[in-house]
Order: sequence, then C-alpha cells, then structure tokens
Amino acid sequence: MGKLFDYAPAPESRAIVNIGASYGLFINGEFVDPVDGEPFKTVNPASEEVLAEVSAAGPQDVDRAVTAARRAFDTTWSRMPGRERAKYLFRIARIIQERARELAVLESLDNGKPIKESRDVDLPLVAAHFFYYAGWADKLKYSGYGETPLGVAGQVIPWNFPLLMLAWKIAPALACGNTVVLKPAETTPLTALAFAEICQQAELPPGVVNILTGAGETGRALVEHSGIDKIAFTGSTEVGKAIAKSVAGTRKRLTLELGGKAANIVFDDAPIDQAIEGIVGGIFFNQGHVCCAGSRLLVQESVADDVLERLRRRMSTLRLGDPLDKNTDVGAINSAAQLQKIRELSQIGEDEGAERWSAACEIPDRGFWYPPTVFTGVTQAHRIAREEIFGPVLSVLTFRTPDEAVEKANNTPYGLSAGVWTDKGSRILSMANRLRAGVVWANTFNKFDPTSPFGGYKESGFGREGGRHGLEGYLR
Ligand code: NAP
Ligand code: MG
Repeated sequence: MGKLFDYAPAPESRAIVNIGASYGLFINGEFVDPVDGEPFKTVNPASEEVLAEVSAAGPQDVDRAVTAARRAFDTTWSRMPGRERAKYLFRIARIIQERARELAVLESLDNGKPIKESRDVDLPLVAAHFFYYAGWADKLKYSGYGETPLGVAGQVIPWNFPLLMLAWKIAPALACGNTVVLKPAETTPLTALAFAEICQQAELPPGVVNILTGAGETGRALVEHSGIDKIAFTGSTEVGKAIAKSVAGTRKRLTLELGGKAANIVFDDAPIDQAIEGIVGGIFFNQGHVCCAGSRLLVQESVADDVLERLRRRMSTLRLGDPLDKNTDVGAINSAAQLQKIRELSQIGEDEGAERWSAACEIPDRGFWYPPTVFTGVTQAHRIAREEIFGPVLSVLTFRTPDEAVEKANNTPYGLSAGVWTDKGSRILSMANRLRAGVVWANTFNKFDPTSPFGGYKESGFGREGGRHGLEGYLR
C-alpha cells in the first residue's frame, strides 16, 4: 500500500531557538570551561547537521560540581523552608511554560522526535512535573517518608526524553531539599543546557543544580564520586547493573529506571479501532524509543487476522520525515549507533524465521531513519520477542485464553509496563493483578501524569518516579 494522499509540508520555524556555537559546563550557577574533558559535537539526527560543540566533563569537573552542590546543600537549599523552595520550583515551571515553544523546537532538533510530540507531550509534562513537586515542597511532613533530604544527588539520564527525564529527576530532588549534579545523554545535551539557563533566569541559588555534559565516562565518574549521597539513573539494564555493582557497599542510595519489553494485550471483545490507535501509539510514539513501549503485541487468535490487517492499513498512513513538520508522526532515529542496533535486531528476527512487514515510506536521503515495522509469526523464543529493540519495531504473538496471555506477558526479564484492551472491567482488574509490570494501562497506552508513580519490577529497576511515591527516593 502506497501513500494515501499528498500533503503540503508545514514545518515549525526554528528561528525561535538560538543555539550557541559552543557550551561550557554548568557548575555553581555559571557556565565554565572544563578542566579536563574533551569537547564533542551534538548533531541533528534528521539531517546530520552539527548543532553545537559541547564540553565533556572529566573527573576534576565532576569533583568541582559535587563540591558546589555540597556547599549549596549545606549553606542554602536544605536550610530554606519548604515554602521558599516551592517558589523557585513554581518559577522554573512558569519559565518552562513561557519558553515551551523554543524548548520543543530545540528538543526536536537535537533528538529527532516529531514536534507534535515535543510540543504536545514532552513540554506540557515537563512543566507539570515542576508544578506538581513545587506543591509538595512545603507539605513533606504529610508525605509519609519524613522531611529530611539526603544531600547531593547524582543523576544520569538517557536520550529518548531528554528534558522530561531531567524534570522527573530534578523536580522531586529539589522539592525535598537535595541539590543535584545531572548528566544528560551525549547525543541530547542541548535542552539540559537550556534548562541551566532557566535556573539562572529563576535566580536559583548557585550550586543547587549543576549540569555536566559528557558521555558514559562522565556518568561513571559521577556515579563513583565519594561525595554523592544518592544516584538516580535512567537508562539501559546493562549500565544499571554496572552502577548497582559500583554502588554496592557504599552509603549511596540508588534508584534505577531501566529497560522494558511491554506486552500490549488485545482481547477479542476489545474496541478494535481504538486498540489499533493504542497499538500504533504504543510502539511508534517517539520512534519506539520508549522504555515502556508496547513492543510485544499479544492478540487473541480469533481476531488476529482482522487486527493485523487494520494495523497494516493504519501504519501505511503514518508520515515519516522532518521532525519539525507539524504533520510528522515518525521522526528520526536518535543516532547512527541506535539505527545500527535496530537494523541488527530486525535482521535477527528475519533470520530466525519471523515475517517482516514495513510501511512503504519514503526515507529521506540524509539522517537516521527506520520505517514502522511489524513482525508476525513471532514465538517466545525469538530474540525480537525477548530483547528490547528500542525502535519502531513491533513483534506480534497470539494467545487463546487469558491465562495464556498472562503467562506470555510475564515471560520476560523485564517488568515495566503492560496494556490490556477489553470491554470487560472485571477482566481488566484481574489482568492488572496478575501482570508483573509497574504500570498497567487499560484501553489506552503511554499515558503519563506527574501524580502517578512510574517504575519497574525485575530487570526494569526499582524505585518510583512521579506522585507521592516519587518523594521516597529523595528523603531520609
Ligand atoms: P544507556 O547507554 O544506559 O545510557 C543512559 C545514560 O547513562 C546516558 O547518559 C549514558 O551516557 C550514561 N552512561 C553510559 N555508561 C555509563 C556508565 N558506565 N556509568 C554511568 N553512566 C553511564 O542507555 P541508552 O541506550 O542511552 O538509553 C536507552 C535505555 O534507557 C533503554 O534501555 C530504555 O529502556 C531505558 N529507559 C528507561 C526508562 C525508564 O524510566 N525505565 C526511561 C527511558 C529510557 P551517554 O549516552 O552519554 O553514553
Ligand atoms: Mg543530538
């Protein structure tokens, strides 16, 4: 099936963002040159254009940032009444709203995600997180977790939701009276640096937030620094395990938000058209670069053919291309390395005998792209059913009974999220009780709200982010 109709491009203007040629590190309220790190470039994955040169923090820079955060913790932030801390967080939230369009364009440029998503999902949630935790800052005694902050938090985040993951980490930490040193991912540093400017604009006391750009080595140096009281990490299970080992036996507290391989379960009584939208949103939202993506579709055998036919038809209407175009549904893959990973795993799927179908989209000449793809004839032994692909690739399995659905859904080392599509409320409740997943969505998927805790079981990590539960990781 080809393109159903043509449309005129409607790109968002990038004139609203002002990207500097080069950036320093944000330490103690100022942008400073690194002492011992090599600079690197960040590119737009949709065009391979270099956007800026960014500093990499070395061990001495990490030490400077941790020292600044400790001083700020001891002298200002932890001593300030909660209602005063709240004012800063409210101010940050309002500045984010005021600069939302600029931040959305910057996020789409650096990450490759469609503007429709950065504008309508990421940015509203980023502001909502700061508003929500601002509200907790003077009410911690009602949290159930005490009101004593831990100290300096070292925070390491991935590239898939750069500013949103920053908000999930920084907002609760500051609300509880901690100070932070945060390392964004190597490929998506720009919105974190814009956030550093926002901290200046909000006149946040120096050292409360420090941003250290760099690659994995910078993250490792931060995690291993002896002056850190708490590590909060979001990223791959592999790196999460390495961090857990390095932190074991120290006084450092740890929360881990890791990978996932969610089952999206469609029963024969489900509203099929809505379920198709949920399946598509579940795996193609953010190019599938989503830890809780519905990457395994479990469909009841009696409706499998119908669901697959409608799914392919819907996938044929997805528009892949310029992330800044307001009509784009599927943007660029974040990096050449991630594209390589997706290609390799998809090839393994074919080699293992699964049947591949990709939407017939025009792939732009430059940049990193992968068409929305679905594999059928997948069994539980296939690697594409077990491993996280972290791309726009869906594996389809079938089941006959609810018991079989539960067994297949739980047959994974991960336990982050799941989806259930059915007309019966009682079935939703019984499935939700039996699925080993931190979040279970019913007749919807990928819905987020700052009041709702999010986190995993098993190899998806431990600790919760969001909601009252999200305070626990930052209080003693
Ligand atoms: P990753 O390689 O683990 O990287 C995550 C972050 O850790 C990056 O900032 C990375 O730096 C840094 N890092 C790498 N090696 C490190 C080390 N030895 N010590 C300390 N930090 C280190 O993950 P990714 O592949 O970029 O991100 C995708 C993964 O994140 C997926 O598995 C996804 O499921 C998971 N994820 C989970 C959640 C959740 O809430 N559970 C949310 C989003 C994503 P560089 O990138 O600069 O190398
Ligand atoms: Mg980039």
